[in-house]
Amino acid sequence: MQLSISVDNPVASAGSPLSGIVDLELQKETTIGGIKVRFRGISLTTTIKHAVQLDARDISQSRFKVKEWHLHVDITTLLFVGQRGTALPAGKHSFPYIINVPVFSRCDCITRLEEYRNKSLHWTCTAATSRVVGTTPLPPSLKADHDRYVRYRIIAILERPGKLALNMSKVKNIIVVPVTFIHAFDPFRNDQTSLVRKVKDAIFTVKCKKLPDSYFQDGSLQRPKRSSRSLVTFGSKGTYVGVPTQLEVILFNDGNAPIMEPLNVEIYAHIQVDDISRIDGILNVRLSSMRIELRSLTSGLTTEFEGPLSVIKKTLFRENSLNIPLTAESDSGPPKFRLDNHVFSDLDISKIVPGFQLLNLHYHHQLVVTVELCFNSSSSKSIECVCPIAVVSGVDFDLDTHRLMPPRYNVGEIQFEVDDRIDDNDRFLDL
Ligand SMILES: [Zn+2]
Repeated sequence: MQLSISVDNPVASAGSPLSGIVDLELQKETTIGGIKVRFRGISLTTTIKHAVQLDARDISQSRFKVKEWHLHVDITTLLFVGQRGTALPAGKHSFPYIINVPVFSRCDCITRLEEYRNKSLHWTCTAATSRVVGTTPLPPSLKADHDRYVRYRIIAILERPGKLALNMSKVKNIIVVPVTFIHAFDPFRNDQTSLVRKVKDAIFTVKCKKLPDSYFQDGSLQRPKRSSRSLVTFGSKGTYVGVPTQLEVILFNDGNAPIMEPLNVEIYAHIQVDDISRIDGILNVRLSSMRIELRSLTSGLTTEFEGPLSVIKKTLFRENSLNIPLTAESDSGPPKFRLDNHVFSDLDISKIVPGFQLLNLHYHHQLVVTVELCFNSSSSKSIECVCPIAVVSGVDFDLDTHRLMPPRYNVGEIQFEVDDRIDDNDRFLDL
């Protein structure tokens, strides 16, 4: 007797059907209790909690880990019900199945947040006891680390009649792509002009031989009085100029980035502000390197332990040995140098799992841009700017009509980097 399950679309978006076939091969005529297919999704998180001890002298001793799981979907479909005494003949039997992946998670624990915060040890997911559908979107498949993941599986189950007979099961992992909630008729939706800007300031000391005397007239290279630091120093080997530099990262569409669309980002260096702008044309500025990294951060609910619980880094672009001369975009105001268009046109984020927020598992992203600039052929100076980015699936679900919008791309092409090996240690949680 051999049981197997195939899936037509192992990458499926919330709100769309999941289909395939359960195959059963029998060597001889066999009595079968039933054949079922079960689609189940859970999230597991590990939270660090404090033991309540009145005499706790050593705080580190009173911390302990609590593993907690939440049920997001659990749908069972009967494919075959064996009547009493009936047997299936020898040979191959195929049972097609179709299950609709829900848009919303069944876990509704977020509505019991106060209760949840006060509970110190054991927590039972609301979905385990109620059939009510929550308002939290179904989270995407994710494996942040061994202690924090969201996992979906389709399980074929063959039930044998009789008390002593062992059931058979076969499991396959499913990658779930979440929906992005939208209001389709919102006039400001997909407003590319709504920008997210992040800037990082630095002052670089640059050796500057070529400054003519005219630049050292009264006040021309002095910082305003709010800062005591002089912008110009005269060393024995040359003149050193403090160059205030600003790295600016611009994202469009309010920082929303659908995974299957090219990500456009504009990167500028603003060099020379205040009086130093007078030396425009003398500073020779070159772009020596650029690195763009996407950081995926996992965090929990607790406020006592701020900071990410885990960080996944992915390099989207990296070029170390550039030597690109830069020219300012405009003659008026502090010179502004565009950097991105010299080295790339857009970035690929198709392997990034979109952000989401569950009760105790938050997943969000940052775009980290690091550039090195070279002034007057001196050694390169590095500056880094961190910009929050909302990575979304781009599978839109209209909250007004409660419908999926027409697909913008083929969901099957998504390649989330999810470690989806079936882990026997966790199997008891699923079945
Ligand atoms: Zn829950």
